[in-house]
Amino acid sequence: MSSSNSVLSRYPDYALNIGIEVHVQLNTRTKIFCTCENGPAEEPNSHICPVCTGHPGVLPVLNREVLERAILAGLATNCDITRYSTFARKHYFYPDLPKGYQTTQADKPICTEGRVEIRKEDGSRKNIRLVRIHMEEDAGKNIHSSMTDESFVDLNRAGTPLLEIVSYPDIESTEEAKEYLKTLRTTMLYLGISTCDMEDGAFRADTNISVRKKDSKELGTRCELKNINSFKFIGDAIEYEIERQIELLEAGGAVVQETRLWDTKNKRSYTMRSKEDAADYRYFEDPDLPVLHIDDLLLNKVKNRLPELPGQKFERLTKQFGLSEYEADILVEDPALAWYFEQAYAQQPSKAVINWVLRDVMRVVKEQKVAINNCVITPAHLAELVKLLDTSVINGKAAQEIFEMMASSLTPAMPSVLVKEHGLEQVGSSDELEKIALEIIAQNPSVVADYKAGKERAFGFFVGTAMKQTKGKGDPKVLQELFKKHLQ
Ligand code: ZN
Ligand code: MN
Repeated sequence: MSSSNSVLSRYPDYALNIGIEVHVQLNTRTKIFCTCENGPAEEPNSHICPVCTGHPGVLPVLNREVLERAILAGLATNCDITRYSTFARKHYFYPDLPKGYQTTQADKPICTEGRVEIRKEDGSRKNIRLVRIHMEEDAGKNIHSSMTDESFVDLNRAGTPLLEIVSYPDIESTEEAKEYLKTLRTTMLYLGISTCDMEDGAFRADTNISVRKKDSKELGTRCELKNINSFKFIGDAIEYEIERQIELLEAGGAVVQETRLWDTKNKRSYTMRSKEDAADYRYFEDPDLPVLHIDDLLLNKVKNRLPELPGQKFERLTKQFGLSEYEADILVEDPALAWYFEQAYAQQPSKAVINWVLRDVMRVVKEQKVAINNCVITPAHLAELVKLLDTSVINGKAAQEIFEMMASSLTPAMPSVLVKEHGLEQVGSSDELEKIALEIIAQNPSVVADYKAGKERAFGFFVGTAMKQTKGKGDPKVLQELFKKHLQ
């Protein structure tokens, strides 16, 4: 959806502010405060211990890898890293939270004041500022059986490490919200700290939406939409919520601060609960966890782990490789595809490489349902094929033939071998082609007369006949030039 057909365009007096809280589930080997395995389990309550099930008298120990990943996420989003950071208890009462509180961070989160740069539809850039990134534990899961009317608690997920990434309400359209989430998700994927699988809840967004009259500086009352698990649904939900809030205000009503759930089927949101204020949680510093001191040694260690980030890759692909923004976007979204392209390009730095990758290689990968790094046509195969084409050893038709031969083989030979095996070299030397061209002209005086009388179409006959005589291996460009020269 472009911003022009957003609901907002029907209400020119109104402005929109969205702040987003994202929870990123870290795929560390173990949980955040104990050594239980972190990840899918076969049986409920099989990845648990006294720490993550909240037994009295046990002590949590912070998983160092969680801390490093939190710092990594902060560095990748231009945050300040807090040198003395603390954990806090946030009190809830839920059956899937046996401690009665969530261990999280409150007034001294590990990262503060960051920014994520997004690219808008018109190509311009905008910074979405981050309030903070903090570490916390996930709760377990309540399971309700409608068959037996029983409820169960599975604590395998309790103690799973999460990063909560909180933005300022800088987002001003549905499109920007989606762009922000995509950019943030790709960044986390590049860091390799989470699967970011939205359906599994490994990357989930709570969206705080408020509208206000454009001339009012104060933000409107916000509603929070919980845990929507796809970019499309988030877009739909925001659009619905904008309209609901504006209509409420236009009718003289007021927006109530609350948490709402999105019903993907009926495309509407409904009240879940009135939103608690921070005071309701009775936050206080967790006495079981020491103050974290982040020294230069640790900071530098994590800095060394920083990979190339999506924005940097985009710049490099467009500037260094001359790709279009459209092409670069596809590669940035798919690091494996980018890797494939870069491998092939390194061996044959040609403009043609990207076309073969996006058109032909992607088609084969899709048809054969394989990952790009398992494609039978390797970057080396592709690079050689493009080289043969670029140096006019083969023509475009032969290149396509060789490509299909490689695609249909389990262990394809290199293109140069296939060219020899199947005699696909272009009949390339101008001398050879010139002889053929002169023969054709001599044998077809009536067509020559037609052409000279102005029948442009007759020209196609000459090139076509020559291509037939060379069994498709002549270079059509060279042939065209030869006929032009001799038909004058
Ligand atoms: Zn445990
Ligand atoms: Mn949270």
